Amino acid sequence: MPKPEICIHWFRRDLRLNDNAALYHALKSGKPVLPLFIFDSHILNHLEDKSDARVTFIHDAIVALNNALKQQGSGLLVQYGTPEEVWASLLHNYTIAAVYTNHDYEPYAAARDQKVAGLLQQHGIAFHTYKDQVVFECNEVVKDDGKPYTVFTPYSKKWKARLNDFYLKPYPVARYHKNLYTGPTPGLPTIEALGFSRSNIVFPPVQPSEAIVRTYDRTRDFPAIEGTTHMSVHLRFGTVSIRQLAALAVSSNETYLNELIWRDFYQMIVFQFPQVVGHAFKREYDNIRWRNNEVEFERWCNGTTGYPIVDAGMRELNATGYMHNRVRMIVASFLTKHLLIDWRWGEAYFAQKLLDFDLAANNGGWQWAAGCGCDAAPYFRIFNPYLQTQKFDKDHHYINQWVPELNSFDYPAPVVQHEAARKRCLEVYGAALKKV
Ligand code: FAD
Repeated sequence: MPKPEICIHWFRRDLRLNDNAALYHALKSGKPVLPLFIFDSHILNHLEDKSDARVTFIHDAIVALNNALKQQGSGLLVQYGTPEEVWASLLHNYTIAAVYTNHDYEPYAAARDQKVAGLLQQHGIAFHTYKDQVVFECNEVVKDDGKPYTVFTPYSKKWKARLNDFYLKPYPVARYHKNLYTGPTPGLPTIEALGFSRSNIVFPPVQPSEAIVRTYDRTRDFPAIEGTTHMSVHLRFGTVSIRQLAALAVSSNETYLNELIWRDFYQMIVFQFPQVVGHAFKREYDNIRWRNNEVEFERWCNGTTGYPIVDAGMRELNATGYMHNRVRMIVASFLTKHLLIDWRWGEAYFAQKLLDFDLAANNGGWQWAAGCGCDAAPYFRIFNPYLQTQKFDKDHHYINQWVPELNSFDYPAPVVQHEAARKRCLEVYGAALKKV
């Protein structure tokens, strides 16, 4: 019997049914749309921690997707393997009219998509891709002469000037649910079948708190309070739509909107300047003679530097997969400036631990803190962890939560003295930049 012709929507960083650009276009095409998710063995094999919370997060998200699809009489086809193998078997098992998916900008993803597009092309199958995870893509907000911005403020001004309702309009996916594929799909694999065990980290709810967004500009810098939205993991995996959040920000808080623009900005930087993966944006910073002391790095990772705000942040990260943005800036500055440890070590540690790990935002954040990125603070402005504590955790509520032994003999002495470390940093950076 001839196999019925279908389209496939390939879910990646867009794990939701509502307001999903590629899914909308696939359904609108009129052919039955089979929803697909691939557990990519290239990626899973790289994860050292076999209870990595991100695998649990994705698994929960695909279970939720599958349940929502079942309510429409459909289901999610979940495959495990390399994308090349999986697509080869799909080509064998289905008659595919076209494949739809949303853009993914990271270097690995771009190379993967190029291969899959090539394979599909050999079979005469179109590969349709759409913007979905950012408001403006890499080449949509550029200088008047067409060159990319490297400084945030003028970029954000142009970004805001370009914005209108069209860019934030949700895609009405539900209107075309009737076109979902209703044939049989096998059950989902368990986490154990993927070679992982369930993590017990608690994930933030998928809807942002509108009350927090409204007061965001006043609350966002204080790690002891619920003053930020915890949307980063949902934005990372697309369980929430960036258009929904940006629309909320536009109507209620400009500071919040600016943070979402930083996200687009860093995506644009990695795309326009791919050399930032592995190198300083300002190349002369690659000359810094990092000390890279492994024992001190270990103390930083474990949260035993003897600097309470740094230790609280690292312990929060290790226990929850999350760290407050203000504290991320403090610990990153401390590692690179106080300890003179290569920012790439810190970047890699965050990549391993952060639930919301995103190559572009993480690279941008680390290069900003080390002073070597585009639009970074000048290197001679070195965060003083004690002053930062006075300003943002005056009553030690955050510190006490994570460093309960602070006032006991169990708490270690500082790994370096602030003033001496500051002076050493200025000398080392200065030498690299030929300023001494
Ligand atoms: P909110 O304050 O509620 O902000 C809303 C959203 O805006 C966030 O969810 C996030 O998507 C975006 N956002 C906020 N600040 C930034 C920023 N500076 N750059 C880019 N996007 C931003 N963010 C990640 O999503 N993934 C990372 O891997 C990551 N690594 C970082 C590393 C360092 C060294 C630093 C200094 C920052 C990093 N950030 C990263 C940015 C920021 O710390 C987190 O996005 C934020 O803390 C997440 O918490 P939230 O969702 O409550 O943020």
